[in-house]
Amino acid sequence: MECDRCGREAVIHVAYSGAHLCGTHLRQSVDRRVRRRIRSDGLLPDTATPEDPVTWLIGLSGGKDSAVLTHILADTFGDDPRVELIALSIHEGIAGYRDESLSAAESLVEDRPVEYVSTSYEREFDLRMDEVAEADPWDMAPCAYCGVFRRDILSAVATEYDADLLLTGHNLDDEAETALMNIFEGDVAQMAQHYDASLAPLEAREADSPFVPRAKPLRDVPESEIALYARLSDIPAHIAECPHSSESFRGTVQELLLELEADHPGTRHSIMSGYEELAKLAATQKRRGEHGPAGVCEECGAPTDGDRCRACELQAALE
Ligand code: SF4
Repeated sequence: MECDRCGREAVIHVAYSGAHLCGTHLRQSVDRRVRRRIRSDGLLPDTATPEDPVTWLIGLSGGKDSAVLTHILADTFGDDPRVELIALSIHEGIAGYRDESLSAAESLVEDRPVEYVSTSYEREFDLRMDEVAEADPWDMAPCAYCGVFRRDILSAVATEYDADLLLTGHNLDDEAETALMNIFEGDVAQMAQHYDASLAPLEAREADSPFVPRAKPLRDVPESEIALYARLSDIPAHIAECPHSSESFRGTVQELLLELEADHPGTRHSIMSGYEELAKLAATQKRRGEHGPAGVCEECGAPTDGDRCRACELQAALE
């Protein structure tokens, strides 16, 4: 099969668009979609200048998605004096899984203009995910605990470094899974939160929100294209499945989505285009009903809508 653009050997057939692409044109296509998303979400404001640059904190797990995100951001903005890049890695305490991906993260940033910081659940919360999954005090999937702890650390470090934006490597598959999970669970509040926290253009976010805004520049790119991009570009990335991932509801939705996409190419894109409209409506509705700003956690001072943040509630349950 030949590349539609240059006639060289194709490395991928993109079923949802019908395109055959060689390695060079696949990488160009991914770069273009990521840069377009950064522009359309208004992630680099006009107010950013060399004298007053913005700080972007990248969640770098060392897996292929966050590694490709870090690579593209370093390639695009590494020499741009309006942007300072910091990558943060978090060790969850999962035996046989995270050590290798953090080594990959370290070698990725070694020769790129990105500051690197790392921490762990053990350092921040005095616990390891393997122990949490074993204890399971609230009878939940491991990812439900893990997501809360990770979000808490990302927010705290973003605040510590005075970051203007927190960027994560969520891809199109991840976002379509989240959309389906919210729909299957009938969780309209979560849809609104998803839109407000990471899908809305930056200028449409609440200016007085205590949370550092989040962004997902890879959210238009399917996981398979990111994996190929990482391999073709020799990006150091650790490709392995977390031993706790199959226990989650997300794992079930992931399998369903893969089947749907194989039978009906383009399903992920259609889900996201309709879901974004729905989530925006839910967010608008939620704002109309809201009174007053979010409070702070009485334990740790993190922003929260209740008396205690979710991370402190979970830690208390694990004591
Ligand atoms: Fe944590 Fe779940 Fe991701 Fe494993 S798959 S690292 S438990 S969120």
